Amino acid sequence: MRKPSRALLALILFVTLGAAQGPKKFQPGFNLFSKQQDVQLGQESAAQVRKQMTIVKDPFLNQYVNLVGKRLANSREAQESEFPFTFEVVADPSINAFALPGGPMFINTGLLKAVDSEAQLAGVMGHEMSHVILRHGTNQASKSELIQLPAILGSRMAGGSLVGQLAQLGIGLGANSVLLKFSRTAETQADLTGTHLMAEAGYNPMEMARLFKKLSAQGGQRAPQFMSDHPNPDNRERAIAEEASHLPKRTYSYQTGQFQQMKQVVAGIHEPRPKTAPR
Ligand SMILES: [Zn+2]
Repeated sequence: MRKPSRALLALILFVTLGAAQGPKKFQPGFNLFSKQQDVQLGQESAAQVRKQMTIVKDPFLNQYVNLVGKRLANSREAQESEFPFTFEVVADPSINAFALPGGPMFINTGLLKAVDSEAQLAGVMGHEMSHVILRHGTNQASKSELIQLPAILGSRMAGGSLVGQLAQLGIGLGANSVLLKFSRTAETQADLTGTHLMAEAGYNPMEMARLFKKLSAQGGQRAPQFMSDHPNPDNRERAIAEEASHLPKRTYSYQTGQFQQMKQVVAGIHEPRPKTAPR
């Protein structure tokens, strides 16, 4: 075989560098679940969450998180995933939010009280939505090498509960659940994909980095729950800034105009002592 010419090598280098400089597009990893099973598992788990946690019924707060959430869900990558995203508020003082496979997202009042801007809230929600789009929960469950898992997923009886059968394998909600606690690689992917969702929605992605920096500064016993569920990847802010710099130039000026009212309403929500379970 002829040796590749200098020109060809230069071209390969150029194309490789060019690709490295565009926004990163991640694909969901190995997964034994179908996308429909992500949705089923998420909806069954969401029903458990609603029994175990205190869902806030305030119409204004629900409307508010839906405005921000649907704005993010209109982004290209969220649309391509075809997952049905939903947004609910939980009365819980810990600074956290979580999204279940297939789309149901729960946002703690503690997080709503902690954010300094709507873009920071959009940052957490975009990050969570990205875990759903990239199917990180069921990817981790699939990688757990439970030998019964393929049989359970392959022989789905009509009307049967997926969540019940998976619970017998130890796959469920709760502390350290593979469905909700992610690797640093998954965290980086969620940060960078979240950056795309935020930018398309008109929110400055650097606000996500700013919030994570603020939360990780509160270390030790007072470390926010979000940071223990979502371990801090190295160079988080730099990676987010770098990714944002590869996106088309935009002015980040979108706001619902309801942030201050949200802060007032959420300040009046009574939070029960946090229960154990889904975190
Ligand atoms: Zn995360």
